[in-house]
Amino acid sequence: MNLSLMVFPFLLALLPAAAGAEERHLGPHVHGQASVGVSVEADALDAQLSLPGHDAVGFEHPPGSAQERAALDKALAVLRSGTWLVPAADAHCTLVSATVSPHGFGGATEPGGHADIDAVYHYTCHSPARLDHVDVRLAAAFPGLQKIVVDTIGASGSNQQTLQGTASHVELKP
Ligand SMILES: [Zn+2]
Repeated sequence: MNLSLMVFPFLLALLPAAAGAEERHLGPHVHGQASVGVSVEADALDAQLSLPGHDAVGFEHPPGSAQERAALDKALAVLRSGTWLVPAADAHCTLVSATVSPHGFGGATEPGGHADIDAVYHYTCHSPARLDHVDVRLAAAFPGLQKIVVDTIGASGSNQQTLQGTASHVELKP
């Protein structure tokens, strides 16, 4: 078992808005705030995201109109593309998989009436030694976001950085 798989669930448990799909410790998330986790080990870059429905689509209930359905489909497509996360170009990372999981937009109601979208991404990097940063361009994709809390884990340890406004640069080796 690699290190990131062991450490990451522990980190996720500490994040108020992020939890696994099977066992979710969903306190009320904070509207306007997304949580991102990034871990790097050897040539693997893994990322996870929890995004409030409020900021992804502007509502937190099953879509009740064609417009709401379209908004949800668009948000899911943007997240599946993974284009909001841009690893350092020199590292030559390739997106291997993206899993996007909406919660609270279907039949089941989430505790507190909230809904959000979780996503998990796996990249492999041809030159991981050059992976010194990632750009988190969530605020450009979802303008309702005011704050993005990014937790990173790498060979040099863990760190937390907060992005506000249009800031997107996240250091991986501070
Ligand atoms: Zn909410």
